[in-house]
Amino acid sequence: MGFVILECPHCGKKTKENCNAWAYGSPVKVCPECKNEFLDKRFTEVAIEGFERRIVDPSIFLKGMVFFAAMTLLCIFLFIFMVKFNGWYPTKIIGCIGIGVLGTLFCAVMFVRVKFGFEEKGMEKYIKESEERLKNREYAEKLKSYGYEVPDKYLN
Ligand SMILES: [Zn+2]
Repeated sequence: MGFVILECPHCGKKTKENCNAWAYGSPVKVCPECKNEFLDKRFTEVAIEGFERRIVDPSIFLKGMVFFAAMTLLCIFLFIFMVKFNGWYPTKIIGCIGIGVLGTLFCAVMFVRVKFGFEEKGMEKYIKESEERLKNREYAEKLKSYGYEVPDKYLN
């Protein structure tokens, strides 16, 4: 979850709008103050523009997993080495191991989720909402006039 601060180009009124981390939603906003309409390109109309690559491509999480796993192993080796030969260890090493384990787990979970489409299923909601908006011919034409490449099926 996240939020975006909208600033009306007509009257300068700032409003906070909740959205998901990728700001999937309509880029057409109406100012609550002056009721004027404006475009906020930070929002993605997914039925037209598609999803962010990072949520579609699982390899980034696989790379992250390898990185964190390597970091964890390195810290564990260092820890064992220091305990064995020095008889003490800096507490930072424990922190590094912890971060490494958490990072590895997070990337592993994300990789599995994206790889097997769980993340995509969660995204279906946004596709549906987006398609619903575009079924409104007026809305579809509005986006086209803003320069979006609206597929013909929404304009006919
Ligand atoms: Zn305004």
